[in-house]
Amino acid sequence: MDWKDKRVAVIGLARSGLAAAKKLREIGAEPFLSEARSSGELINTIPSISDFEYELSGHTDKVLKNELIIISPGVPLDILILKKAREKGIPIWSELEFGFELAKDTSSKIIAITGSNGKSTTTSLVHHILKESGKNALLAGNIGLPFTSFPIEKGEYEYIVLEVSSFQLDAIEQFRPDIAVLLNITPDHLNRYHTLDAYRSSKLRIFENQTEKDFTVLNYDDDECKQLNKIGLSKKIFYSVNEKVNENVWFEDNKIVIKSGEKTSYLYSNELPISGLHNVSNAVASSLVGVLCRLESNQIIAALKSFKGLEHRLEWVAEINERIFINDSKATNCVSVEKALASFDKPINLIMGGSDKAEDFSSLIPLIQKNVRNLIVLGETKTKIIKTFEKFVNTIEVSDLQEAVWTAYKISNPDEYILLSPGCASYDMYNNFEERGKHFNQLVGGLKK
Ligand code: ADP
Repeated sequence: MDWKDKRVAVIGLARSGLAAAKKLREIGAEPFLSEARSSGELINTIPSISDFEYELSGHTDKVLKNELIIISPGVPLDILILKKAREKGIPIWSELEFGFELAKDTSSKIIAITGSNGKSTTTSLVHHILKESGKNALLAGNIGLPFTSFPIEKGEYEYIVLEVSSFQLDAIEQFRPDIAVLLNITPDHLNRYHTLDAYRSSKLRIFENQTEKDFTVLNYDDDECKQLNKIGLSKKIFYSVNEKVNENVWFEDNKIVIKSGEKTSYLYSNELPISGLHNVSNAVASSLVGVLCRLESNQIIAALKSFKGLEHRLEWVAEINERIFINDSKATNCVSVEKALASFDKPINLIMGGSDKAEDFSSLIPLIQKNVRNLIVLGETKTKIIKTFEKFVNTIEVSDLQEAVWTAYKISNPDEYILLSPGCASYDMYNNFEERGKHFNQLVGGLKK
């Protein structure tokens, strides 16, 4: 595409929008920036856009004078300005699509990872495996820095590993990864999609443009993914931690076994630095990507062993008077709480609650009954959570995270876990899950002192 003097509107000035704007300028296009928030809310952003043409506090018809619109992932697709743009036939791309357009004619191979849970862990692990095997690999997308903030048009990366959210997939046209990974599809973001069907359709777009040359890695243990062997043109490759569905990577007798070329290597699951069967599953998926990239099995195993895991995902924080504090702030839906509850073999004092994503929590009743001794609830969803669980477990309502941590400590016994696994987004009290997780760690640090 010829970008010289092309007029492109960028809607939404969060990180991806800003990265897209800068990249557009770099490649000779003429970006126009449009943002719903006011100057007061964007005090820290304004210096970085001062030499761009922009509008704040809403999107006017100036947007429609452009040949293309690039949107940040958080921008809802049904806002009026986008409806008008569609009527006028102006293409609307996510920042992911824009990045793909820039990288597609280079020799970089694109590995895109999506799913309801495990994206960040798996994306980081795939990137770590490639780097440890000596490959020049970039980690970008929904994790770390945006795709277009890197010199992706220059083709200097052998692999670009992208964490892809459904929000970004909602506005693609040609995005076509060489390897797509779909980890699972379970209810999430129902406040945006309203039905599981709509959410599923969005996730499946990750492989809609793939051809016979491309690979799709699918989780056979997930009921939704299991059924996808006939969809699209790509080669479908399944993995499982329950049965041997793949000749290259499988899990048996507590070992991840990897066969790449002539060599076979293995790793016991207790040597994997990240805990829980769900993380074994993430490791199996990542290893399979490694095999598809023709890495050696012993290199993949060495990388699995040295992977540090990510903050705020079942992160061990401290042990205080024989109580172990775990930060799982990133658990923002029921399935991730379920995986957390299944990862520990001692009673749990669970801290749950946050902003509402329209999820029904009742699927957690059996595990809460079995593994949780006290449930401490806070945030916008607290009434809903109490109603769901009060018949099954001792439930205590608190007003903030500080009270939650102290209460959990006071009522817990030695040899128990205190687990923050909210099952909800953080926006009722924090800017994001990282802020919530850091606050939890600080409060635990304070308690320790
Ligand atoms: P995502 O980027 O998709 O939100 P993360 O890797 O950040 O995924 O993990 C988010 C939460 O989901 C964590 O609480 C983690 O324990 C849980 N989780 C990680 N991998 C899986 C998986 N494969 N299936 C279900 N839950 C998972």
